[in-house]
Amino acid sequence: LTILGLESSCDDTAAAIVQVEPGQPARILSSVVHGQDMLHSNYGGVVPEIAARAHAEKLDICVKQSLSEAEKDLSQLDVIAVTAGPGLIGGVMSGVMCAKGIAAGAGLPLVGVNHLAGHALTPRLTDAVDYPYLMLLVSGGHCQLLVVRSCTDFTRLGGTIDDAPGEAFDKTARLLGLPQPGGPAVEQEAAQGDPGIFNFPRPLLDRAGCDMSFSGLKTALLRARDQVVAEKGGLSRADRSHLCTGFQAAVSDVLTEKTRRALAIYADEGAQHPTLAVAGGVAANATIRAGLESLCAQTGTSFVAPPLSLCTDNAAMIAYAGAELFAAGHRDDMGLAARSRWPLDQTSPALLGSGK
Ligand code: ATP
Ligand code: FE
Repeated sequence: LTILGLESSCDDTAAAIVQVEPGQPARILSSVVHGQDMLHSNYGGVVPEIAARAHAEKLDICVKQSLSEAEKDLSQLDVIAVTAGPGLIGGVMSGVMCAKGIAAGAGLPLVGVNHLAGHALTPRLTDAVDYPYLMLLVSGGHCQLLVVRSCTDFTRLGGTIDDAPGEAFDKTARLLGLPQPGGPAVEQEAAQGDPGIFNFPRPLLDRAGCDMSFSGLKTALLRARDQVVAEKGGLSRADRSHLCTGFQAAVSDVLTEKTRRALAIYADEGAQHPTLAVAGGVAANATIRAGLESLCAQTGTSFVAPPLSLCTDNAAMIAYAGAELFAAGHRDDMGLAARSRWPLDQTSPALLGSGK
């Protein structure tokens, strides 16, 4: 199967071509991502209207580029897969309309893919991981611990009750005058800081279960920053680094501890060779990764971290998820709708509900 995937649910426009043959590792023939950071940088966040317009303009270019890099033309494709949600509705609609146009024009089957399923299935694309596995999805917009049993069977064990960790990194960077995206900037500063200076709270660790919270951490950081400014009349480079180190350690501890609990729940189901896979931009963080790796080493769990380009938003993951859905018999028609909300644990009923 040769699949074209399209992704436009947030601030990246992407198209990719993936080849999936039974019994062979999946191959990414091309993966094109056009980011929109420049367009939104003056607004301190993604502006939905600007994003939707940019997606509509960029999708065609991405598709052409993905075809030419893969040395394919439309007649050599078998399936079109597109992110049908969740995400910013204007962007998702742009992608779905583009996919419908290509599917109708080239007479190809269409498969709508849940963006989160794309992230959750990425370890199968990159590392051929077998079902079931535990997935920690940590990005700018999401934070979930999932047991992945098939391309339509996801059980959510927990997740954030407020901000996503990436969002917390981005807000922290803004509070400290660091550039966006905040994650890499905060990580770089944190490397120079002393972990013994600021001890921030570890929210919800005292509560059972796998739910997390990151918004209180941001308030604690703001208070600590203001206290330093009040005492010293300003924030030195070193103070900023110490704040970053303290913040990052708190996020890392919460993620590691909640993942430990999720692994225990999942081990109770009798998983023989447990695997933990990560996805999302925050998984790029070396401290967070080291925490998870040592947890896996302690518990006899395999740790799988796809390359960063496939951890952040991309269309190869959508093409791959589309291939699995197609192989499982899923098809969509011209009635495929864009959805701003689409919880992963409803993936299966939603697909059945669309009549397929
Ligand atoms: P979503 O995929 O949930 O729709 P998104 O596009 O914002 O949202 P990603 O592209 O997966 O998410 O990741 C971007 C997020 O990851 C940003 O919030 C960014 O700050 C964060 N991030 C990137 N690198 C790092 C890092 N080294 N440490 C911590 N966070 C990071
Ligand atoms: Fe994403």
